[in-house]
Amino acid sequence: MPDTKIVYHKQFLTDYPTASVEQPERIRVIHQELSSHGYEFVTPEPALEADILLVHKPRLFESEKRDIDRFNTALLSAGGAIMTAEIALEETPAFGLIRPPGHHASPDSNWGFCFFNNSAIAVEKMIVEKKIKRAVILDIDLHFGDGTDNFFSNRDDVTVVNIQSDNALIALAEVKDGLERAAPFDIICVSAGFDKYIKDWGGTFTTDDYKTIGKIVKESADKFANGRRFALLEGGYYIPDLGINALNLIEGME
Ligand SMILES: [Zn+2]
Repeated sequence: MPDTKIVYHKQFLTDYPTASVEQPERIRVIHQELSSHGYEFVTPEPALEADILLVHKPRLFESEKRDIDRFNTALLSAGGAIMTAEIALEETPAFGLIRPPGHHASPDSNWGFCFFNNSAIAVEKMIVEKKIKRAVILDIDLHFGDGTDNFFSNRDDVTVVNIQSDNALIALAEVKDGLERAAPFDIICVSAGFDKYIKDWGGTFTTDDYKTIGKIVKESADKFANGRRFALLEGGYYIPDLGINALNLIEGME
């Protein structure tokens, strides 16, 4: 059985109101791929209100209650992110197969199919609970993770690295250099969007490139963070290859 633990709940298949491309099928195809490769799945609990308020304003939290199915799924997604980080703290690599995504959720606003910022909540919770002092969030999604950046931009304990180039070789170098420059840190959180895939909107990374990114993350985690590393699903809309791309990132990180 592979070492990496996958945080997953069937509630992530809920068809809550959102953009049609951000569909439950995204979760189903990744789950199917990882199941067929023998991965162990673990079940998260919903995040608490206090966890969400580590990052978000009460006004935003309250306003999300207008759709209760989506609200509950977003709480579970944030809880899944927290659980994924906790597994990584034990030096076991982990992947949060969670939905909705989070990196476009800022403290007081959100957009882009995101409601609560999963990676920011998971990282901030580890910091306030003094489980880590420093973290790097590596965002490999096609889109700039504005929500994550808005939350951490004035902080020197969390570095957010976004990958900008649409040239795969340059983008892979940005991954490596970004992690090197962010060091030292105690854990790596990957905001794992797959929409920069060559057949997805971004037209950049191949399936092999996702494995290479995973390997860079593992090497960097081994060098700087006692191997502590985890990834959380963000975007990725090319359904036929979403499972294999997630598998390759996870295999690379292992
Ligand atoms: Zn995206």
